[in-house]
Amino acid sequence: MKLNDRLHNMANVLQLLQDELAQIKLEAAVLENENDMLKNQISVYSGVDISQLVDNGSKIRLSSRENLEKLYKEGFHICHSLFGSFAEGECLFCRGMLEQGATDQEALSQGQPEQ
Ligand SMILES: [Zn+2]
Repeated sequence: MKLNDRLHNMANVLQLLQDELAQIKLEAAVLENENDMLKNQISVYSGVDISQLVDNGSKIRLSSRENLEKLYKEGFHICHSLFGSFAEGECLFCRGMLEQGATDQEALSQGQPEQ
């Protein structure tokens, strides 16, 4: 490939990266905005019993993990890439998700912060 062609290709790649960076910056701004909004909403609930909220969150998380385990045992993928499709045999990604969920649940029950 000629040097001129290679430079042209590199310029195209650079343009794609710049476009993607602009998109990521936009998404980051949207997420920061949403985060600020959620922080404001949380401050509204500052008078609410926080331990009750945490307890409710744990129950919801546990029941969602149980639902995923049930789906997996019924033969469906619960991993991100194949979610909902029929699984033929074991899937390492699904197993990984279940094990990660169990680890998170143990950390929660021991009062350790999540990652
Ligand atoms: Zn899977």
